[in-house]
Amino acid sequence: MSSQNQQIFERARELIPSGVNSPVRAFGSVGGIPPTIAKGAGARIWDVEGKEYIDYVGSWGPLILGHAHPEVVAAVQEVAADGLSFGAPTAAELDIADVLTQTIPSLEQVRLVSSGTEATMTAIRLARGFTGRSTIIKFEGCYHGHADALLVKAGSGALTFGQPSSAGVPPEVTAHTLVLDYNDSEMLADAFRRNGDNIAAVIVEPVAGNMNLVKAHAEFLNTLRELCTRHGAVLIFDEVMTGFRVGLQGAQGMYSITPDLTTLGKVIGGGMPVGAFGGRRDIMQKIAPLGPVYQAGTLSGNPVAVAAGLATLKLISAPGFYEKLSATATDLVNGMMQAAKTTGQNFSAQSAGGMFGLYFRTTPPETYAQVMECDRDKFNAFFHAMLGQGISIAPSAFEAGFVSSAHGKAEIDATIEAARTAFEQLK
Ligand SMILES: *Cc1c(COP(=O)(O)O)cnc(C)c1O
Repeated sequence: MSSQNQQIFERARELIPSGVNSPVRAFGSVGGIPPTIAKGAGARIWDVEGKEYIDYVGSWGPLILGHAHPEVVAAVQEVAADGLSFGAPTAAELDIADVLTQTIPSLEQVRLVSSGTEATMTAIRLARGFTGRSTIIKFEGCYHGHADALLVKAGSGALTFGQPSSAGVPPEVTAHTLVLDYNDSEMLADAFRRNGDNIAAVIVEPVAGNMNLVKAHAEFLNTLRELCTRHGAVLIFDEVMTGFRVGLQGAQGMYSITPDLTTLGKVIGGGMPVGAFGGRRDIMQKIAPLGPVYQAGTLSGNPVAVAAGLATLKLISAPGFYEKLSATATDLVNGMMQAAKTTGQNFSAQSAGGMFGLYFRTTPPETYAQVMECDRDKFNAFFHAMLGQGISIAPSAFEAGFVSSAHGKAEIDATIEAARTAFEQLK
């Protein structure tokens, strides 16, 4: 007899491609079927069969306060009762713009959208409109949402223009996107030497979280800042994941680097659909209706979503919040590394604020090529051994993990214990 999880997922596959509304949820890389989630509270989620999991996915990053935080839920309920959407200015939009611009110094102006994809797509258009140039640079392994121009992988040789990484994207669209290696300053300098006057923007995850977790070298980001300034290219920090995740001022605060534009999402919506882009006033003023670069959104600045974001931003701005969150992530990765060591596993782990990476590799990777060297079979076996013990980590060796303020000592200890058992089983 098939389980309830199986029944629902099989029916879902008939009506929804692969049964999911975003690909990685389908467990394609780890195999098996995903549990169907019924509810969450704090650090835990429950599936439709009532099985409980300690959750390290956190809706892929937004849930920095854990699931269904009472103050966030109350804020949403209160605002929803007064209307779900107006398509007209509200005072709450000003409040959140105030919090964002006060907290992150590089944001002189900010505009809200409904997803991270919209934020990065618009930031690219804005940078092109501002500079009057077409070429953009991205780095292999960095993900910036699913806009056409950013769905691109490296061409056949270094310093060639990119190839579409998805069907349905015309090569002409990615012909303006150069794909370079992350953390490779020389390759970057070479690209600017050859194409400097045509480069509209460089977009980067200043801590990469979509090829597992890879930290940028400070020297790499500093070189990037210098080259963009020298050549008049717009530096875009894609902080959709790292914003309010690695620290209150995101990765730009961590590295003390001021980008020209920043994209945000995930945490700033507290679990509701919110994205934002912002930065230098002279650039932001090119946006319609003030300027010639078009951008719009029926639900942009949605009051219910903004209420969730504001409630979240208020709670995470409390003194000591990030110290505690970072300590939780550090305890988790240290405990897991210790467990791996005692069981003789080739494993490493690291964290940045409230995000972490787990690698079946001796040391944390610093490049995309090193990420690709991680043992995927080991990860997949580890993933299922953890899930079976009620620990939910991202179903892919190439995703980062997240802790929330709801993860306490009990959850971390239980997770390390489960990891020890999982590592034993891998032997
Ligand atoms: C998640 C993510 C995006 C896309 O955001 P969506 O809300 O999923 O569209 C863009 N950039 C980065 C760095 C992300 O992590």
